Amino acid sequence: MAIRYIIKDGDPVLREISKPVPEITPRIHKILDDMAETMYDAEGVGLAAPQIAILKRVIVIDIGEGLLEMINPEILEKDGEQVGPEGCLSIPGVLGKVKRAEHVKARFLDRNGKEIVMEATGFLARAIQHEVDHLNGVLFTDLTEEFYQQEKLNIETMN
Ligand code: ZN
Repeated sequence: MAIRYIIKDGDPVLREISKPVPEITPRIHKILDDMAETMYDAEGVGLAAPQIAILKRVIVIDIGEGLLEMINPEILEKDGEQVGPEGCLSIPGVLGKVKRAEHVKARFLDRNGKEIVMEATGFLARAIQHEVDHLNGVLFTDLTEEFYQQEKLNIETMN
């Protein structure tokens, strides 16, 4: 495993649309491993492959409930509403208030290629929406209604 450099806002790579993974190869496993290591090292709760300059539809999330690896994630349904603070490892020091769906139903492949359909609410639903946005070149600052000064808040941030 290796810690990868996390690219920052302003790099055009973050605005690209990532490509679906056609086949799960050892290289995809290596990317997943590196992404998890990079996320934990940065003390984040999520990371999308484009943040390490790999334009593939791969994300990892761990909100403290264990590692979730999602290949080709799709949000099938979303409903409800939550408004809360969000940050991003690619936009250090910035937190904004972002409106998201409270509940999502998502489909993805795990590292063995097994199709999984899962439902999530609250912070996990927020993390999934944030990371899937990265695969479509969308950053939370595109959606935020209000920015915070990070030093005034002692809250968990997203990545
Ligand atoms: Zn992010």
